[in-house]
Amino acid sequence: MPRIDGHTRLVGLIGYPVEHTRSPQMHNAAFEALGLNYCYVPLAVAPADLSAAIAGLAALGFVGVNVTIPHKQAVIPYLDELSAEAQAIGAVNTIVFAGGRRIGYNTDGAGFLRALTDRGFSAAGRRALVLGAGGAARAVVYALAQAGAEVTVLNRTEAKAASLAAELRRYVPGEIQSGALASGQIARLAPAVDLVVNATSVGMGAHVGESPWPADAPFPSTAIAYDLIYSGAVGARPTAFLRQAEAAGAQTLDGSYMLVYQGALAFEKWTGQPAPVAVMMAALSGETPGADGI
Ligand code: NAP
Repeated sequence: MPRIDGHTRLVGLIGYPVEHTRSPQMHNAAFEALGLNYCYVPLAVAPADLSAAIAGLAALGFVGVNVTIPHKQAVIPYLDELSAEAQAIGAVNTIVFAGGRRIGYNTDGAGFLRALTDRGFSAAGRRALVLGAGGAARAVVYALAQAGAEVTVLNRTEAKAASLAAELRRYVPGEIQSGALASGQIARLAPAVDLVVNATSVGMGAHVGESPWPADAPFPSTAIAYDLIYSGAVGARPTAFLRQAEAAGAQTLDGSYMLVYQGALAFEKWTGQPAPVAVMMAALSGETPGADGI
């Protein structure tokens, strides 16, 4: 439990609902590890109360908050300033209250990328295949294209992939291709890709045990498979998509990495200090960090 006293600085999460969040564990463990007198609290904010909640958080002196579903886009009109990433992605996952201003950031894309760069993967000039064209895909495609990757985004609803690509091309120098999430298309592109990202919700909820990667297309063994789905402790329950990649001998990353790194980047914006990523990863997994970090 964090120590609460007259000097405690507040941060938190606004969403609706927020009962399932692991962010308080992750951030409060990080504050404790660094001896910072901060406390992270989950705050359920109904959509109709969003404007009042943002004004209230500012009035109460919150340092900042994370923002989750359903407020990531809706919160934008209540902010004074947006980072370049938040503007391009069209969504905010982190707010900083500073100097009377409300500044919106999006750390999802950068958090996604930092997990890859930590593994020695440099996106510049590499070919990336992103499956899905929802909110998470948008952050991922932006981050990859901004870092110089050649990105192809495939989606069940092809028109959504096309409009995502067209919108993001305005913000990034590299080309973004789009197409349908279809077996033939995937099989054609697969041999040349360096990274495959599952940014669909196939593999969770009603689709648990399913994969967006077709069973008849060989997974490229030299590519990295990155599934955004967070399914519990780090690497504990690989999704069907990651199991296909593992069976082909490919390297894999699960959604816990994006979750931890987007949180680490928010932590750094609020505190001005490097985030203790290994502590946050262990807190997310409900483990004690080992001597080697994670
Ligand atoms: P979203 O905006 O609702 O988008 C869902 C995507 O999944 C769409 O592209 C949708 O295609 C596709 N999809 C859904 N059902 C499908 C099916 N049966 N077959 C093929 N495609 C299907 O959701 P989101 O916010 O982008 O989240 C996507 C995933 O990323 C979720 O699993 C979420 O948990 C995960 N995520 C993880 C993190 C993290 O930190 N690890 C952060 C954000 C999101 P259509 O357009 O055709 O409907």
